[in-house]
Amino acid sequence: MSFKNFPMVSRVIFGRGSFNQLDEIIAPKRNGREAPFIFYVDDVFKGKSWLTSRIPLAYKDKIVYVSTEEEPKTSQIDELVESLILEFSERPSGIIGIGGGIVMDIAKAVSIMLTNEGETKDYQGWDLVKNPAIYHVGIPTISGTGAEVSRTTILTGPERKLGINSDFTPFDQVILDPELTKDVPKSQWFYTGMDCFVHCIESLNGSFLNAFSQSYGEKAFEICKEVFLDDKLSEKESQEKLMMASWHGGMSIAYSQVGVAHAMSYGLGFLLGVKHGIGNCIVFDHLEEFYPDGVALFKQMKTKHNIELPQGICKDLDDEELDIMINVALSLEPLWENAIGKNWKDKITPKKLKQLYLKM
Ligand code: NAD
Ligand code: ZN
Repeated sequence: MSFKNFPMVSRVIFGRGSFNQLDEIIAPKRNGREAPFIFYVDDVFKGKSWLTSRIPLAYKDKIVYVSTEEEPKTSQIDELVESLILEFSERPSGIIGIGGGIVMDIAKAVSIMLTNEGETKDYQGWDLVKNPAIYHVGIPTISGTGAEVSRTTILTGPERKLGINSDFTPFDQVILDPELTKDVPKSQWFYTGMDCFVHCIESLNGSFLNAFSQSYGEKAFEICKEVFLDDKLSEKESQEKLMMASWHGGMSIAYSQVGVAHAMSYGLGFLLGVKHGIGNCIVFDHLEEFYPDGVALFKQMKTKHNIELPQGICKDLDDEELDIMINVALSLEPLWENAIGKNWKDKITPKKLKQLYLKM
């Protein structure tokens, strides 16, 4: 038997206001005046000087605002990398992502593709990256995905939605400053927070579960219940706790896998562009059969926070479109194996997935 030897985020700082230490953290990593730090920043922060004025720019450093209208594409990463190569005479000293899962994933992918030849799509999969990435820093501004701690960057390519899973993907540094999440809109808070909740349920109920994953998964699960069902927490405590739930949820799946909701949500994302957080919620709402207790809790949380999910988004799709989604979902074999077990193919057929999609 061989065990996976996983890298983790090498350094992490936690605390309200810790974002102010960004300058002292990155300064030692500067490789000279010609090698800039590139800050990818969620464009929701454009004009928000309480945040942007604290980004420590020097020499040729640059802020690049990123739209989060769509989830990242491999072609978008290729373009971002190309524009850095054309604009600067030297490779960047570091890539810093400030935003949600989209920006985290863009920062990770760009830092990898600056040192690896060819096109981004060629690296979608497991352990295909050959060279270490450029120094990269993740600063999440919304909690739930675990992208700040994970070993993957999820990208949509021409053929599939799949991560670059590699030892070089995790951030070298993460800054967890709960204050940065203060203006997240309520519905988005719920969708992204539920990504974490679903990570726990899928990991804790999966066949890949082990004591390592369980310890993180149980902690994240407990915090999610506190944040989404208890009324005792202050707003600040809730922000702080959800940030740590996201971290633990991400750690839990690092050494196991996600499951049915993620596999099917990737299908929705690929065909219809439904985003990860809300997509997981739409799917999970119909998965009583696989996760009865988790779905019951989810419905309770949904009601408590008055969340209305879109209904019937698949009902008008034709067979060809449904097949595209079904094929994307079925191609994620490790997710099904984790959720159902080694013989998952006996239970999960295209027909079964079609029935489920048509309920959504
Ligand atoms: P997001 O990046 O999609 O952002 C969601 C919305 O929240 C955007 O409109 C954004 O502008 C807004 N937002 C973010 N921070 C804000 C703030 N502080 N104030 C106001 N608005 C704010 O959100 P997400 O749910 O964190 O990320 C989803 C993405 O993460 C997907 O692309 C998904 O594939 C990816 N993901 C990656 C991993 C991984 O391990 N790499 C895991 C799960 C999900
Ligand atoms: Zn997820």
